[in-house]
Amino acid sequence: MVVIMHQGAPKREIGQVLAALQHRGLEPRIISPEDRVVIGVVEEMDQASIPKLREALAGLKGVEEVEEFGSAWKLASRDFRSQRTVVRVGERTVGGPGVAVMAGPCAVESRDSIISLANVLAGAGASFLRGGAFKPRTSPYSFRGLGREGLEYLAQAGKESGLKVVTEVLRPGEVELVARYADILQIGARNMQNFALLEAAGDQGQPVLLKRGLMATVKEFLLSAEYILARGNPGVILCERGIRTFETATRNTLDLAAVPLLKQLSHLPVVVDPSHAAGKRELVPALALAAVAAGADGIMVEVHPDPDRALSDGRQSLTPEMFRALAKGLEPVAELSRGLLGEG
Ligand code: PEP
Ligand code: MN
Repeated sequence: MVVIMHQGAPKREIGQVLAALQHRGLEPRIISPEDRVVIGVVEEMDQASIPKLREALAGLKGVEEVEEFGSAWKLASRDFRSQRTVVRVGERTVGGPGVAVMAGPCAVESRDSIISLANVLAGAGASFLRGGAFKPRTSPYSFRGLGREGLEYLAQAGKESGLKVVTEVLRPGEVELVARYADILQIGARNMQNFALLEAAGDQGQPVLLKRGLMATVKEFLLSAEYILARGNPGVILCERGIRTFETATRNTLDLAAVPLLKQLSHLPVVVDPSHAAGKRELVPALALAAVAAGADGIMVEVHPDPDRALSDGRQSLTPEMFRALAKGLEPVAELSRGLLGEG
């Protein structure tokens, strides 16, 4: 349930609504406190009690409207927050003006290689550095990342290049460690429904980039975001990275329709990872441009200085030259799309 207060409703009236809800054993949350106060109640409520509660709330001073959530996801929905969420990382934004460009290798491989690549990427149009220190691999015998050492190299590369760092966390017990080095925590496709991990990421303050599961519907994706939001972390970025279909010519099938759909259903920013969707580097630039044309707030692409020698995902990694050329095209395409489609 969402209670929308009149513009400029005084604190006293807001307090009365909060008290009325708390009195019924509910836990109301205040959102958008600057402009118009909206109070949300996300708990499951006894259906029979709702009409009475609505009536009681509507009778309180300062209340303009009382609405039900139209969807199973609540905090992620546009009923809860009509303005778009802008995730701020220092002076960088995701969902703010401009396309957020996240680039880097699949995995951090060495100190020197990540630092020199970060400097190249910063000069070529990236704003965030990606790279895994803890890698989820299909086979336990594949390279699984440098762990803590990789986090240190990443943080150093971020500092030297001025890029903000995005990196994956695999286990709830490692959230605190990864958050010490990363600006944005990534939760990978394979962990999208690791609810303990989602809650641990929700309990800390760093923004979270949540990747869509390989077999997840849009609804399941939004409900996973809800787990993070429900723990009080508002900084969730949704990432479409391709889903598994019958098609084997590409690694996954990029669900481009999910981009405008997610933006209609939710106020959260949406980025697209065309690298894991395509699996082939020659397909990545076209999909990245298509993503921003479809309204994505950013892209995440894998880039490696020598893709054929990469320890993971070399086949889908762009060369730095390919990245430079792609990055130049992103903003013009996004601008054209915003002009034609509106800001959403
Ligand atoms: C990655 O970003 O390197 C990764 C493992 O992605 P996903 O979780 O989407 O497979
Ligand atoms: Mn990868």
